[in-house]
Amino acid sequence: MSGRDIADTVKGWLHPAEGPMLHQYAALGAALGPLLEVGSYCGRSTCWIGDAAAEAGTVLFAVDHHRGSPEMAADRECHDPDVLDPATGRHDTLVHLRRTLERAGLEDVVIPIVASSQTIGPHWTTPVGFAFIDAAHDDAGVLYDARTWSQHVLPGGYLLFHDTPIPGISRALNSLDGFTLVDEVDSLKVLQR
Ligand code: MG
Repeated sequence: MSGRDIADTVKGWLHPAEGPMLHQYAALGAALGPLLEVGSYCGRSTCWIGDAAAEAGTVLFAVDHHRGSPEMAADRECHDPDVLDPATGRHDTLVHLRRTLERAGLEDVVIPIVASSQTIGPHWTTPVGFAFIDAAHDDAGVLYDARTWSQHVLPGGYLLFHDTPIPGISRALNSLDGFTLVDEVDSLKVLQR
């Protein structure tokens, strides 16, 4: 099994047409350096990017605090009781991500980092060839992600954003200097440094 074989069976909001585009630019970025994803949830996008990392002999760092987001609260549109820890009632998507990586054969390729952007961001020093941002969807959170992670994209590397019709996400990506829009499909936009 590879990531692409199972991606469409994994929980998440990545549109089927967006997966192949993630893979395409992850493969190009992997020629420059390791890959980064911020906001893995249960690993649907991780499958596509992880395949590209495996094929190139590099790794994918997958950052997520795995405690859900405001859109996933009980009264909100993205709520899913399947991802609550039965012992505590709190969100815990890490166990889902690990199952996804096992099924996809990507356990030696994808490195889950259980932390918020705000926790790991100030300590990050590794340049990356590709970064995919699909984490906080509030204005301040996505601006923090855009500013923080764009610094680590190597020249010629790629920075991708999901859910770009959301105005705060669109504003955040348009605020970045030194990046050019090179491709898009559905809500996915691809910038190149
Ligand atoms: Mg998304």
